[in-house]
Amino acid sequence: MKLLVINAGSSSLKYQLYDMTDESVLAKGLVERIGMDSSILTHKPTGKEEVTEVSEILEHTTAIRKVLDKLVDQEHGVLNSVDEIQAVGHRVVHGGEYFKSSALVTPEAKAEIRRLFDLAPLHNPPAISGITAAEKNMPGVPQVVVFDTAFHQTMEEKVFLYPIPKVLYKKHHVRRYGMHGTSHYYVSRIASEYLNRPLEDLKIITCHIGNGGSLTAVKDGKSMDTSMGLTPLEGLMMGTRSGDLDPAVVTFVMNKEELSISEVNSMLNKHSGLLAISGSSSDMRDITDGLEAGEPNATLAFEMYEYRLRKYIGSYAAAMNGVDVIVFTAGVGENSAIVREKVCENLTYLGVEIDPELNKIRSGEPRRISSPNSKVEVLVVPTNEELVIARDTLRIVEENR
Ligand code: AMP
Repeated sequence: MKLLVINAGSSSLKYQLYDMTDESVLAKGLVERIGMDSSILTHKPTGKEEVTEVSEILEHTTAIRKVLDKLVDQEHGVLNSVDEIQAVGHRVVHGGEYFKSSALVTPEAKAEIRRLFDLAPLHNPPAISGITAAEKNMPGVPQVVVFDTAFHQTMEEKVFLYPIPKVLYKKHHVRRYGMHGTSHYYVSRIASEYLNRPLEDLKIITCHIGNGGSLTAVKDGKSMDTSMGLTPLEGLMMGTRSGDLDPAVVTFVMNKEELSISEVNSMLNKHSGLLAISGSSSDMRDITDGLEAGEPNATLAFEMYEYRLRKYIGSYAAAMNGVDVIVFTAGVGENSAIVREKVCENLTYLGVEIDPELNKIRSGEPRRISSPNSKVEVLVVPTNEELVIARDTLRIVEENR
């Protein structure tokens, strides 16, 4: 079966076309600047030249039509006909408590995703645009929604509730949901396969650290705790997001600086984290360049980032009463040897010992970076959220045939 995986953002749309007979990617690409005058479509068919096309793409329906045109294009295409696509899988950030796993798109499912707009105002509306656009372009083709939050639905009440008046949970569903679930799910499974040890025997801390970042304590293969909360703002220090702080900082700063709700949201989501402390960049590559050059603001940003990450690892080891495996994944986790080195350098009390040479290797494959003496296995596992979406889409479509 051939299926299309779609990840729709407010002004972007990423796609991958899979042939599920061997899980190969036939083509992938990205539409950027949707709704702006010069939108860019970058299409990469496997084994052929990448193409870039600039045009006016005002909404997601046109974006998907252009993508489908490319997929069947004489020169750059990989399909004879759009009819070969037998299912579409969509990434949706917030599934609330309603979606505990992936689901077929139905009118009820769409209504539920709309009800969750309040909890994910930046993320769920574009997902609905993507779904509607796919329905218009491929009528009758089954569609599946896969949620970032679903893997974390196994958290216990004592973990997901905030210690605030309970009425806020009942009335407004205020609780920890967690994000990056497909990634935490995937890398924990790969870690178990790589080590040839059953998930039921493992206490794993998965560190998904990219532009955004979250940690998950995975026990018996299930998410026991995770660092993102009601929204993707809680937890680690990130590229432009603050992560944890005293909640009173928010009202204090709003009062002193006379900030509106949207201004303070923007400050915490877009102007904090590495960017705020370094004063120059949210990108870990720039921060580590600054660190190596002895630049004081970049050094401080790096040290805060590493310290906060390490504190979370310690707290999840405490939450699970131990840790067998630490997994690093996503842009920073997969690529930054120095972040991994510095974090692990101060985890010797847990028996963590990494091999500096193994830590430097880049392979794009799951690999061990801990030394044989280490009491904790430390792995680097490239994440693949699209593959999880593709597999779930296939499974749900087959179950509903
Ligand atoms: P992601 O959100 O997973 O795509 O991760 C993107 C982030 O990964 C970028 O903003 C960088 O901060 C980080 N990154 C990518 N490559 C490297 C690298 N070679 N060294 C350090 N950080 C990197």
